[in-house]
Amino acid sequence: MSPEPTPRPAKGSRRRGKRPLGADVSTVQAGADVSTVQAGADVSTVQAGAHPESGASGVPAVPVGRYDPWATVLERLDDAAELAGLDPDVHRLLQLPDRVLEVAVPVRMDDGHVEVFLGWRIHHNTARGPAKGGIRFHPTLNAAEVAALAADMTFKTAVVNLPFGGGKGGVRCDPREMSVGELERLTRRYTFQIAPMLGPDRDIPAPDVNTDERVMAWLLDTLGMLQGNLLPEVVTGKPLSVGGMRLHTGATASGVVRCVRAVFAELDMPVAGTRAIVQGFGKVGSPLAFLLSSAGMRVVAVGDVGGAVHNPGGLDLSMLADHVSASGSVAGFEGGDELASSDLWSVEAELAVPAALEGAIDEADARAMRARVVVEAANGPTTPDGDRVLAERGITVVPDILANAGGVTASYFEWAQSRQGYAWDEELVASRLARTMDDAFSDVWARAQSLGVTMRRAAGVVAVERLAAAIKARGLFP
Ligand code: NAD
Repeated sequence: MSPEPTPRPAKGSRRRGKRPLGADVSTVQAGADVSTVQAGADVSTVQAGAHPESGASGVPAVPVGRYDPWATVLERLDDAAELAGLDPDVHRLLQLPDRVLEVAVPVRMDDGHVEVFLGWRIHHNTARGPAKGGIRFHPTLNAAEVAALAADMTFKTAVVNLPFGGGKGGVRCDPREMSVGELERLTRRYTFQIAPMLGPDRDIPAPDVNTDERVMAWLLDTLGMLQGNLLPEVVTGKPLSVGGMRLHTGATASGVVRCVRAVFAELDMPVAGTRAIVQGFGKVGSPLAFLLSSAGMRVVAVGDVGGAVHNPGGLDLSMLADHVSASGSVAGFEGGDELASSDLWSVEAELAVPAALEGAIDEADARAMRARVVVEAANGPTTPDGDRVLAERGITVVPDILANAGGVTASYFEWAQSRQGYAWDEELVASRLARTMDDAFSDVWARAQSLGVTMRRAAGVVAVERLAAAIKARGLFP
């Protein structure tokens, strides 16, 4: 078991003591009213004693020696709070997730034995609207990562001014080692376990790493079976055949490209003819590479979980996509030279886009970085140390909570479409997505200029100010 992590009190606040053990979270069953989950109102009550994975002090535990994304969230929140002069009450409120559900997910495997997986659904803050956030299937997923991703969603939905709060969920599993049948049974049982948290006015999941529209369709169907009515607005990123949204698939990548264009314009750099590096060639990285190429950029290096490839003349992306479809990785692609994954960021280019996992750019990577601009398509890809070095070196970073917000923006449109029962056409989706991203970029850029700080710090200020307005308007219950 990991040692207890240290809670970080707000400036001027008292350090939180260890709480008495509360109900085991596993006693919260699907079908129970969500108020059962809320009861106790303090996440430490839900977590305490629940599982060795969970911290007993309200801060989810992270395995020793691993990058701690929750600590990064708190550090960035503290910074935004100080810059914005945030009310300490609001600051304290944002330092803990609203509610954390940790679940066992037993699945009958194809060989007949039962495997028990660990899963989570976490709401960070819902002052501005229902929780919104993806579901991730990954072999190293832990509570700290899910909580951090949920908090990122709180700040992201505030930066793009959507009427949502922040949530995230997932299961620790390796989908690459599982059959389609096993994945479907896992998805359905996980959905059943977290069902009390979900609902169109409560929490609306979407795809994330290793989940896709097929997984969202299973989730939709399971909830429909449980509740006796099919509510398409309970999930986004669905297939078009069950109420999905046109252009949803490429929306995150489109939003990233919008930010690339905007930041290059501000820095007086041409887009056409310049070079880009992309880490990750999945649902975000792959369409992104094609869109950058359509914008006239040369994508000179691409990395993924299997390795990296480099071609200074520009990679042939169609051939690369065929290679990845056939082999599962960019590694071994003959249209470029093999590159060590650790050397990806030192490739010469104007733009670097991390579109894989968090913690991808640490201090050493930031020192090696040759690009002038980093646009964060992934969630949490730059560590705080990496961030400081990038800032010192004058490298402009468009932060994740702005750059990859195109996905949640399209999810908002899909939620609205499902509630309206009227399908939006592509022009409407594309034009509103572009406007939302451009407005958010302008807000953050202007705030960065007026405060004389990085875009990441400015985005944090914009987010906490909008959150504070909602929290204050609602007041404190009871
Ligand atoms: P995905 O599962 O479709 O693709 C992930 C990619 O990352 C794959 O190419 C994989 O090989 C690569 N990868 C995994 N581990 C790696 C490692 N250790 N080193 C290098 N590459 C590695 O996931 P996705 O949906 O494309 O999400 C990518 C990132 O974008 C995540 O941080 C996710 O949270 C974020 N994001 C996704 C969306 C969305 O709409 N899917 C929206 C906003 C943010």
